[in-house]
Amino acid sequence: MKQPIVPFFISHRGCPHKCVFCDQVKIAGAVGEFPTGTEILAKIASYRDSGRCRSVGVAFYGGTFTALSPAVQEGLLKPLQPLVASGEVGSIRVSTRPDAIDLQTVQFLREMGVKTVELGVQSMADDVLDLAGRGHTSADVARASRMLREAGLALGAQLMPGLPGDTSEKAMDSLARVIALQPDFLRIYPTLVIAGTKLADFYEIGSYRPLSIGTAVLLCKAMLHRAWKAAIPVIRMGLQPTAELETAGTVLAGPYHPAFRHLVEAELCFDLLRRMTSGMRRGSSVEIICAPSRISAVIGHKRGNVARLGQIYGLTVKNVRGDPALSPFEFSVERGGDRLHGDMIRDLEYG
Ligand code: SF4
Repeated sequence: MKQPIVPFFISHRGCPHKCVFCDQVKIAGAVGEFPTGTEILAKIASYRDSGRCRSVGVAFYGGTFTALSPAVQEGLLKPLQPLVASGEVGSIRVSTRPDAIDLQTVQFLREMGVKTVELGVQSMADDVLDLAGRGHTSADVARASRMLREAGLALGAQLMPGLPGDTSEKAMDSLARVIALQPDFLRIYPTLVIAGTKLADFYEIGSYRPLSIGTAVLLCKAMLHRAWKAAIPVIRMGLQPTAELETAGTVLAGPYHPAFRHLVEAELCFDLLRRMTSGMRRGSSVEIICAPSRISAVIGHKRGNVARLGQIYGLTVKNVRGDPALSPFEFSVERGGDRLHGDMIRDLEYG
């Protein structure tokens, strides 16, 4: 059974920087003081009770954990130690910047039972990092990633296509360079213009244009496919919808969609379906068989894939059904007695 994660948002705390796109308060919806040891333990207990599970994971999201003062880091991690020892907390995850990692920090995290460190990489193009006001370089990412991996910690990397100065080529190159660092997982967040940020000022004066939703979906489709090929899980695409983020006036512009990943996966499914059905006569009726978890992406957002197969190729989709024997990347298309087989990883190619 998957371990439930108990999240703690530390927001902008610990971060001495002000990246042009960042307003952690609006993105993570968190303000206020750090949780006390008592509050941390109470929240974990309530998750364990409600989930009826022996063991949970703990994640400190947002901010720059390892740039917090040592006393604050200890204040957050020390209360967890008895639970780590007893196995009631099975994993601890923190997020930080690449330049806030050094050997001493890595040693401290290991001693405190931290298993996973997520690095805000955002881009591997130094000019993009510079324009975003990140204050670190791609060399910092490579160095920090190596240190974390050598220490046996799991490595996560966050990427933000669509930053000022970014292009599709640079975003794909950034992904390739991050994949070469062998992260255990990725998160991909297309850049949004959040009110109150420097990026919002750039947008207002016309010096920054965000990706459109269509362009972001196409780019992220190629990125997700590349990650699939490298067998690296992408555990999130697009910011998680929160009340704060969905409040009018928070996202000023950019490719925000509450079901962004669904749009991307539906496009990948459509590309494979288009390829598989390209030789079929107009007017044919087909049944599509895929992994049960893929049914909604195969059908598409608001049944868009089924509609497009009809409108563009004249095909009627009689049924989409799940087959647990198929991997999430494989489909079969049946027409009459014929059955075609396709695989998104094997059969699709994006430059
Ligand atoms: S380093 Fe992270 S928390 Fe700090 S300003 Fe940049 S994005 Fe925000």
